[in-house]
Amino acid sequence: MKIIRCADELRRELKAQAGKSVGLVPTMGFLHAGHISLVNASRENTDLTVVSVFVNPTQFGPNEDFDSYPRDEARDAELLRAAGADIMFVPTVSEMYPEGNSTDIVLTSGIKTKLCAKTRPTHFDGVTNVVARLLCLVKPDKAFFGRKDAQQLAIITRLTRDMLIGTQIVGCPIVRERDGLAMSSRNTYLSESERASALSISRSIKKAAEDIAKGKALASVRDGVSAEISASGGRVDYVEIVDPGTLEEIDDGGMGFSGDYLLAVAAYFGKTRLIDNIARIDGKCI
Ligand code: AMP
Repeated sequence: MKIIRCADELRRELKAQAGKSVGLVPTMGFLHAGHISLVNASRENTDLTVVSVFVNPTQFGPNEDFDSYPRDEARDAELLRAAGADIMFVPTVSEMYPEGNSTDIVLTSGIKTKLCAKTRPTHFDGVTNVVARLLCLVKPDKAFFGRKDAQQLAIITRLTRDMLIGTQIVGCPIVRERDGLAMSSRNTYLSESERASALSISRSIKKAAEDIAKGKALASVRDGVSAEISASGGRVDYVEIVDPGTLEEIDDGGMGFSGDYLLAVAAYFGKTRLIDNIARIDGKCI
């Protein structure tokens, strides 16, 4: 595996490998099995896998955890080598945002104002800008994103289509710990008791999906998830049941709902904000 730090060098390397199909896996590092599942998906579906490791400052708000976000490049490199990635791209901030950067890509769609955007109003502008730059640089045939960040996946799918980028965006299943907790680099912030409480998220959304399948009204399903998370000691940021593409709230008129949905949750345990979701896409629960 090659470790590359400069955009120019990455361009040269990709040119030297012309003719191969390219897969891109954007990450912020401190890798876990969720990230590695994306690397595996890329290796199964493309000839050359590029994994970017970049803690992108523009997607953190002023009071968020940019400085304390966990970083361990040597460990990440070891995991990526073992997973069979071809290139680890580890740019500096000035490599991704050249000095005097004066270009921003701004999504105009309402999807960037929903769910997480209510608490993190500038987050998705940062995500859009860094992913757009990575897609322009790598020009991958396919790029792999986790469904854990469902809003990010919806936004990047839209960005790629709107800007005629041509990369196929592939959503991959959420990888969980054995006890159900969705894997996240931020799980390292949790104390033992916060981690135990946080299991209420995966437990309650699994039950919610079963209740929706039985025809229970969505408002009461949503209230059930909120109540269980609060009872465990979590502070709910939002629980919403929305259309998976537009992220518009679904109104079932109290009658239950049999179509595709995304049930998305954000909640704080101590100071740590966790997100998770469960969805029915093309009739299948994922
Ligand atoms: P991050 O490093 O948190 O920015 O995540 C990089 C990519 O890994 C994103 O596409 C995430 O959705 C994905 N990812 C993070 N956690 C998981 C998980 N538990 N299961 C699947 N994908 C994940």
